[in-house]
Amino acid sequence: MKAKNILKDVIGGFWSLLVGMSITLREFFRKPVTVHYPHESLKMSPRYRSHLIFTADEDGSSKCIACNLCVKACPTECIFVEGEKKEGAKKKSVTQYDLDFTRCSLCGACVEVCPTDAIVFSKRYNIVSGDKKDFSRIDLCKDLEERNKKK
Ligand code: SF4
Ligand code: SF4
Repeated sequence: MKAKNILKDVIGGFWSLLVGMSITLREFFRKPVTVHYPHESLKMSPRYRSHLIFTADEDGSSKCIACNLCVKACPTECIFVEGEKKEGAKKKSVTQYDLDFTRCSLCGACVEVCPTDAIVFSKRYNIVSGDKKDFSRIDLCKDLEERNKKK
């Protein structure tokens, strides 16, 4: 009776070892789902929304004509826009565009209403800070300038 139990334990142990090894082997050949952050970045889904950024013309300048439609459409009043009409220009161009990201609900009203497709949601998922103030004024003009410099 005792020998029978020992044999049962040995077979059971060997079986569980085989099951464990087969799972390990299967996972070893599977494509990893993790990335080597921060050396690698995740590709966010098309519907992912982070803070607003400017789109740009071929020359790198903003398409924003400072019409203020996004300001009026924003339900949380978190956009501030200033613009000027340069000499000889038909339309105004933006001189300041600030977003208070701490109040933005990512509703998309501003993006939808924009007549020139000047703003889109960025895919930035790794912006962090211990201070809320760091997100209370995101300067879109400066951000575009910095992106142009990196090109
Ligand atoms: S996404 Fe909505 S809340 Fe955020 S800035 Fe645009 S309109 Fe305002
Ligand atoms: S982002 Fe679009 S809607 Fe807002 S001020 Fe500029 S052009 Fe007008």
